[in-house]
Amino acid sequence: MVAKRRPVNKKTVKHRGKGKILFYLCLILLIALVVYLNRGTLHSLLWPKETIAGQSNDDAEPGGPDETVDAPDIKEPKEEDDDEEEADEVPEPDEYLILVNKDISLPADYKPEDLTVPNVRFSFAGPHERQQLRVAAATALEELFAAAEAEGYYLYAVSGFRSYQLQESVYNRHVSTKGREYADKISARPGHSEHQTGLAMDISCQKVGFDLVERFAETEEGKWVAENAHLYGFIIRYPKGAEDITGYNYEPWHLRYVGKEAARYIYENGLVLEEYLEQKSRE
Ligand SMILES: [Zn+2]
Repeated sequence: MVAKRRPVNKKTVKHRGKGKILFYLCLILLIALVVYLNRGTLHSLLWPKETIAGQSNDDAEPGGPDETVDAPDIKEPKEEDDDEEEADEVPEPDEYLILVNKDISLPADYKPEDLTVPNVRFSFAGPHERQQLRVAAATALEELFAAAEAEGYYLYAVSGFRSYQLQESVYNRHVSTKGREYADKISARPGHSEHQTGLAMDISCQKVGFDLVERFAETEEGKWVAENAHLYGFIIRYPKGAEDITGYNYEPWHLRYVGKEAARYIYENGLVLEEYLEQKSRE
């Protein structure tokens, strides 16, 4: 009996041992599967808006996105010519008329000191870095949204401040998955996003699903914004037809704070910020 039982017991022990290994293997596989299936969720946690919109860069659609750079090479800070280098650097980063575009970049360590979260509706739940704006822009945005609401238009803030580091991760991720050429088309290089100034906010409305799309311009909300933003110190930074100058496609959702005086002048004269600053520098 004993002799018979022993092999049975051994077998059972062995079997249990194998069972355990199998169990843990299955567990690991299951965890791997869950992680794999949820990678979109994890991704959206890391890159909130981007995944929601299915686009790059916190902003809009391919081909027309916020930080779209379908233009020639972005100049790195020049070294060959001292005068030009100075001209290419942002003179006073604290000015509201700060100019950032494909050619002119902000230093990696530039981060406004007076960032705050405006008291407006957002298209997403915070807290998040991109809710922030500089104080003057935040106050102006609150006034703009309140004025819109008084007329029955409900605007939503989608994407404001973006640090150099966040832009860098976004850009590098596109480079590693799709190559530099493609990355440059759909994403601004780090330092070249106007969102790093803390003076830009992308806005949207319910009718376009809170997305950053050209259709926003055709909504009542979008039309109201185009006609009234300047009264609060904002301009539509990338208007239709100015692609050659701004380097960006039409972005009716991208508001840039420049202060009331500049905004009114730019609006009334149909200029873009580059043209306005050039005129100003000649005065
Ligand atoms: Zn934008």
